[in-house]
Amino acid sequence: MKNLINGEWCDSLSGKVFAVHNPATGDVVGEAPLCGEEDVRAAVEAAEEAFVDWASRNPGDRGKILFFAAEEVRRRNTELGSLLTAEQGKPIREAIDEINGFAKTLEYYHALPAGEQGGYQDLGGYGHAIIKRQPLGICGAIIPWNMPALIMGWKIGPALVAGNTVIVKPARTAPLTCGRLAEILAGAGLPPGVLSVVTGPGETVGREIARNPAIRKVSFTGEGETGRVVAQDAAPALKQLTLELGGSDPMIVCDDADIGMAVEGAVRGRFYNCGQTCTAVKRLYVFESIADEFIRRLAARVEAIVVGNGMDPGVSMGPLNNRQGLDRLMHQVDTARERDEGEIIMGGKAPAGYERGFFFLPTVITGVPHDSVLFSEEVFGPALPIATVKNLDEALKRANNSRYGLGASVWTRSADVIARATRELDAGIVWVNQHLRIPPDVPFGGVKESGTGRENGIRALDAYTEEKTILIQV
Ligand code: NAD
Repeated sequence: MKNLINGEWCDSLSGKVFAVHNPATGDVVGEAPLCGEEDVRAAVEAAEEAFVDWASRNPGDRGKILFFAAEEVRRRNTELGSLLTAEQGKPIREAIDEINGFAKTLEYYHALPAGEQGGYQDLGGYGHAIIKRQPLGICGAIIPWNMPALIMGWKIGPALVAGNTVIVKPARTAPLTCGRLAEILAGAGLPPGVLSVVTGPGETVGREIARNPAIRKVSFTGEGETGRVVAQDAAPALKQLTLELGGSDPMIVCDDADIGMAVEGAVRGRFYNCGQTCTAVKRLYVFESIADEFIRRLAARVEAIVVGNGMDPGVSMGPLNNRQGLDRLMHQVDTARERDEGEIIMGGKAPAGYERGFFFLPTVITGVPHDSVLFSEEVFGPALPIATVKNLDEALKRANNSRYGLGASVWTRSADVIARATRELDAGIVWVNQHLRIPPDVPFGGVKESGTGRENGIRALDAYTEEKTILIQV
């Protein structure tokens, strides 16, 4: 791929590139420009130049370009999904879902009246006030590798329709799909400079996006530690920030739950995208009275997961995306094993015969003590730790005992339990009898160390605009 800067497809200014590898095979899938701070500055210059014209266009005209792009993305979803599978590792069905999710997000935002959310106030003898919502200017979008296409859509959809110019920085291990999506947006009519893609390391490209004072807002999705660095780098310019960080979502299965439904929810919630979803089920609390049946049925269902290359249509779980993620997961599972923190009833190791890829077997660990490393750290891979609880009091206490607060779910048929759990679970999103689904139409984000700010929904537009008050005396 090449970078998109000022409407041109270009190499990095240094001329260097880096290779992108298929996590299932180790093969090279493609290469991307190895950029540095100077490439970000070139994108900033182009974005500054493009801003005035783009911001002054009718929001409907901006939306139309997003809509045309979404149509093209849907038309090419198999090709884009294949590229995503090749660089990210997820099964092709999940990759196509993600590509469609990107299109759906653009479709959602294209129609929102971004320029019309202001107001008017009659100030009597003091005149009249018009409150306009104005775009911020240049926005930086820093993207992780786990859902690169979807998360790019969550950031650029509201930012662009609101009249901002955007610089996207994809993750090192999954930049290609983001580049192809930008190509489609440019083809749909985005003027030069409105959207740039700059690939390269977080330590240079990402940090320059966070630091460069001309970039007025940074929307970052990734790990908490990186989010802290971004916040510090953005502090001198007092930039606006949205930080979507890690999670350790609890799933509570009550004694009156539909067990079949909860088993399906746990399997999808934990093993979708090889467990590398910010809102994956990362801690499962099941009531003692149904634990045996729940675990027996869950184990049978996990047994049926087919691990392999995501391009193979029979595969339901691909590899992890990168060596670092695999090493971290192995370390966490090994630590739990050494400390005798629960019983690994399935998996717990890499499958034989897949040495070239970053594969790990779907893993279920039961009887996990509440102070286990599997509960205190974010487990970003296919390992499901399970603990039993006596009742709802204990379940809620355990669930909230985390520095994270992204998502949480409760599985029950009781209206009282639903009322209490949705009130008391300390998370940005609480699901009832489901987990993981994140439609673009509702706010999404975390509390505590899972981040600050919200993406999605109509109010994401507020995060990409600022009020300007105009006072008029006539
Ligand atoms: P990461 O923090 O390593 O990287 C995210 C992005 O930041 C990448 O593009 C990376 O190159 C860039 N980056 C790295 N160092 C930087 C720096 N100093 N300054 C600026 N940018 C820098 O995260 P990851 O491993 O790609 O993603 C996995 C993490 O993301 C998990 O913790 C997961 O829970 C979290 N996540 C959160 C959400 C959410 O919405 N809350 C969604 C998806 C993933």
